[in-house]
Order: sequence, then structure tokens, then C-alpha cells
Amino acid sequence: MTTVESKAQSGELADRLYNAHETYKESTLTQRRFKQKDILPLIAKRQGNPLYIIEKAGDSFEGRPIQMITAGKGKKKVLLWTQMHGDEPTATMATFDILNFLEGKNDGFDDFRKELLEKTTLYFVPMLNPDGVERYQRRTVQGIDMNRDAAARQTPEAVILKGLVDQLKPDFGFNLHDQSPRYSAGRSPKAATISFLATSYDYELSINAVRERSMQLIVGMNKILQKYIPGQVARYSDDHEPRGFGDNVQKWGTTLVLIESGGYVGDPEKQYIRKLNFMAILSALDKIADNSLTKEKRDHYYDIPENGRWLYDLVVRNATVKQSGKSFTTDLGINRNEVNYANASKFFYYSKIEDFGDLHPQYGSQEIDATGLTVEKGKVYPTAYKNLGEISKLNAFNLLKEGYTYIRLAPDAGTRSLGLYFIASPLHVLRSGQATPAGTPGLGNTATFILKKGSKVKYAVVNGFVYDMENYAATKGQGIIE
Ligand SMILES: [Zn+2]
Repeated sequence: MTTVESKAQSGELADRLYNAHETYKESTLTQRRFKQKDILPLIAKRQGNPLYIIEKAGDSFEGRPIQMITAGKGKKKVLLWTQMHGDEPTATMATFDILNFLEGKNDGFDDFRKELLEKTTLYFVPMLNPDGVERYQRRTVQGIDMNRDAAARQTPEAVILKGLVDQLKPDFGFNLHDQSPRYSAGRSPKAATISFLATSYDYELSINAVRERSMQLIVGMNKILQKYIPGQVARYSDDHEPRGFGDNVQKWGTTLVLIESGGYVGDPEKQYIRKLNFMAILSALDKIADNSLTKEKRDHYYDIPENGRWLYDLVVRNATVKQSGKSFTTDLGINRNEVNYANASKFFYYSKIEDFGDLHPQYGSQEIDATGLTVEKGKVYPTAYKNLGEISKLNAFNLLKEGYTYIRLAPDAGTRSLGLYFIASPLHVLRSGQATPAGTPGLGNTATFILKKGSKVKYAVVNGFVYDMENYAATKGQGIIE
């Protein structure tokens, strides 16, 4: 097969996989905060399927079983693990989509499946850190980042992963993560939707044959992804991390590819990015199966821009501040941070002003031009309400238009035990003990304020979400209770 034919074919395969994803998408996984109890039945129902060998790889610190699903009988061994960081679930969803795909037939992919299962053996270990997943936190329940535990191995999860690498001696490893959705691709305003890393096995960032193959796989996946997310692929800094699994697995002789699922505007639950994972990982496995990865030029790895860190969720540009009889202009950089509730099965947003001043080199996933607008704290509505039900019934548009962003709860409202909480209304609720905000909204404040043109409210920003008073369409909101 010539290089040209091979590229044309793999391009076509990627497109067909992209289009087929909906068919194979695991329908029981629909958002990021699923738990181990949600994936165990997906593994159990495959017991006895001749396509697979299912074995327990070990137990987590809290005794949750970590399982490995093996498919294929080929010489090239590929170990794919996900969610060693508990709050990084995108590739776990994609893994079950890939298993569904492996079980398909008469869909135009039979030749690809046959080649894959004859030439490779695929070892899937979804959700390596189930205790962290339970809490939707990065670290294991011991408080250790297991991706800094490859050398010390004080977590049972790290012992399991090292054991699998020693026992299987895989030719290829896929270390599957999520990164902050706020990384940009280089200095562009676009989010790094997928970032790659061919991990370094030494401080000199040397390139041996093992690491070169990783670069080649990444170059191939980048080409495929550019069609769907142009300019939104990046690469992680390749500084050597002597405690990381990626770096050590590469050192131990397995070609290691790190894939980080980042952000994509309008996809907070990462369902589109999951589809890109499905397409990119299966395409990479194809390149491993037919060895076409060797045709990729490793130098093109360096053409992929590095991750930047330039994106806020919201940037307000050129707002005028009036303070002590003087005035100046500023930008505001705002992030909508996720707060877990209901045993980390759900979340709400709590938004802060995280930078204040000149942000011209930085970008927002959403931006508003506040040129000619004055930024002020909103007013506190004079009536206190007995409960959240009453507040939910208020006409938020009328309040915001008059500059009221804050509503007070009466002292006996009985919501104290909820702590920081949310209300599905575009209002900022203050409990009776909470101080009335004063002065200019600034660094570190909750992102609630108004932007006025003369005496009229043009925009209300409540808990980091923007409401345009000249074009108001909100039926509910992302309010906060402090
Ligand atoms: Zn991670």
C-alpha cells in the first residue's frame, strides 16, 4: 500500500467512524458525573461474550473492583486506561462506545474490526480511580494524585497499573485524561478541545524509537481531528515528570500516548468531545494494526501548538469604573467554577472575578464589549423573603432592569444547612448574615454586577451569567445563594 492510499483510507475510516458514533454511543452514560455503579453493569453484561476476557485487575483503596476487558488475539498489545483522575470521565464514556462498536457487524466496518482483532490485543481498564470518581475529585481517596505515584506506588491503584504494565508488557499505552476546559490551543482564542503528549522519559526530552512512535500516532490523530476541530488541537508541555505514569511507562518501553479532553464551547458535558475520542482512538488503533503509523513524520508533532492558558469563561472588556470621584477602564476575567452536590452526582456554578485590569492578551469563551458602560454592584432589594419558593416566583427581569441583583432571605428561612447553594433564577440570594456587597466589583468577588449605559441597565451579570436587558430571553437562571 502506498503512503497516499493509506492516508486516503485512514481519512475515510475516521469520517465513517465519526458518522457511526451515534449508533455505538453507550446510551446509559449521558453526563460526566456517573459512578462506578453505572459502569459495572456494562462490564457484567459482557461476561461470557466470546469477544472478551473479563478479569479483575485489583481493588481500589476502598475495595471497589477495578476490571480489565480484553479483546482481540493479535501480537500488538495495547493497554488503554481511563479516569485515573476521578473527575476526568470523557474517555470512560468513549471506552464503552468503542466496546459497543467492537460488537457491531454488517455495518461496513467488518474488515476493520477483523484486522483490529487479529493484529492487536486490546486491554481496556476503564475508571482506574473509582473512589475518586465517587467524590468527583482528581485524587484517590487517600488524597494522593496517582499520576504522581508511578514511582512511590503508595496507592493500590498505582500498584495495579504498574502490575499490568509489567505483566502485559504492552507495545502501546493510552493514558486517557481530561484537562481544564480553559486551555487554549497556543495563543489563539480557541479552546484546546483535544491535547496530546508524547511523554518524555528523561529530562533531556530524548526521542528513542518508543517515543517516536508516540509522536507519529499523535501526528496521525491530529490530522484526523483538524477536519472537525480546526485549530483546536494542542499538545502538553513535554517537561519530564519523574513521578508520572505517562513518563515512566514510556521509560519502561511502552509507546505511550497521553490524550487530554479539554473544552468545547456549548459542550459542558463533553458529549461531542467523547465522540472525537471514539474517532481518534479507533483511528489510532487502525494505524497500530496495519503499522501505517510509521508513515507519519515525527517532526510534525512540533507543528501542533502548545497548550496556552488564556481562556476565561467570560471576559467583560473595557468597562468603566467610577471610584472615589475618578474613573478608569478595566477588563474583568470571570470563571464559572463547578460545585458538586448530591454526593457529587450533580453540580452548580459558582462564579468569581478571577482577574481585573488589562486582559488584552487573554480571551473569553464568551466576551462582552462594555465600552461606554459603567460597571457597578447591583442593589439589594428592600424586601426580605421567607423562603426560596417565594424568590423563585419573582419577576427577575423587572428586578434586574431596575438594578436589583440581590435578594435577601429572612433570618428564619431555614436554608443555612444547605451551605453555598443555587437557585434556578437569575438572582443572587443573600442569607440574613451575609454582608451587603459594597464598592466596585473586583478581584475575588462573586461575579454579580450590572453594566449601565447612562442610568439604564444594559447587562446584568449574575453569578457569572450574562443577561442582556435589551434582549432578555431567560426563562430560568444560574443564580447563587450565599
Ligand atoms: Zn488527569
